[in-house]
Amino acid sequence: MELYYILFLFIATIVFWIFVEGYYAKRYSDFIKSFLNANTNITILYDYNKITFINSIGLEFFSYTSVDEFNKNHADLSQLFLPEENCIDKHTYGKKWFDVLKENNSKYLKVKLFSKRNKMNYYFNINMSKMKKNNQYLLTFNDITKLESERVTIVKQAENDTLTNVYNRVKFNEVLNDMIYRANRYYSQFSIILLDIDHFKAINDEYGHNIGDKVLIELSRLINMSLRDSDVFARWGGEEFVIIAESTNLREVSLLAGRLRKIVSEFSFKDVGKVTCSFGVTEFKKGDTQALLFERVDKALYEAKHNGRNQVVEK
Ligand code: GH3
Ligand code: MG
Ligand code: MG
Repeated sequence: MELYYILFLFIATIVFWIFVEGYYAKRYSDFIKSFLNANTNITILYDYNKITFINSIGLEFFSYTSVDEFNKNHADLSQLFLPEENCIDKHTYGKKWFDVLKENNSKYLKVKLFSKRNKMNYYFNINMSKMKKNNQYLLTFNDITKLESERVTIVKQAENDTLTNVYNRVKFNEVLNDMIYRANRYYSQFSIILLDIDHFKAINDEYGHNIGDKVLIELSRLINMSLRDSDVFARWGGEEFVIIAESTNLREVSLLAGRLRKIVSEFSFKDVGKVTCSFGVTEFKKGDTQALLFERVDKALYEAKHNGRNQVVEK
């Protein structure tokens, strides 16, 4: 009899213990969820690679009413990561993106996400922490959209000419150095064009500096419109511009410069009418440095000026 009694007490204790444990686990989980719901960042709980909880602001962002609805529509969160420079997308690590965070606690991943609700792209730094009490992981999305747009503005300011909005000399040098490096290493081909407005001083003298500025803006637009996406166009300084033509040899770049010469000379500029440009062109030769390339293209432009302007000279 006594044995039964002890056994009963033992089972009762276990049942009670399970009940208490369950009760507290639920209370703990409810507490965590309400805590996360009050969070203004998107937060997500992950359990063995499955999303178990998305806080209210997260559901609102993804336009779902429940985590089940989210899971039904997306096998993995990474499917929502959009491709963008410096960001990870669904191809970067595949489904392993989560392991990358798991293996390195201090790491964060930058992602771009589209909010269906606001019809807008957002940038986030995602970091992860392991929850102490259970096997869940907490993902926090820090909204860096504002920072990111400021960064883009700063980069743009640093790379673009303020008057014409085309690349400036700093950016041009960076691209050219990279091109030279690749051309020497992979035997890729490229050519450059240096162009200079003819008698620009006379335009300034006759119409004033402001109109001169407008001519520079119009010319930049005209040339930009006539180039391929792969061509790099920059203001070299004053009324001189440079173009890097990728995968283009001397014959092809002469044709391109000839086309540009014709387009400019046939265009009617708003206040001043006809304007012409002179062009120097050269192709990259193995072993060329930036100085050697410019020595040749400068000479070519000088000859174009010397021979009567509004023409293309190749070197
Ligand atoms: P050439 O056909 O030999 O090139 O003659 P040019 O008059 O074009 O050349 P020059 O070098 O004698 O004069 C260039 C002028 O460009 C002088 C300078 O005041 C003007 N210039 C340089 N930068 C700017 C600018 O940003 N805005 C305006 N309006 N003029 C500029
Ligand atoms: Mg000039
Ligand atoms: Mg000049």
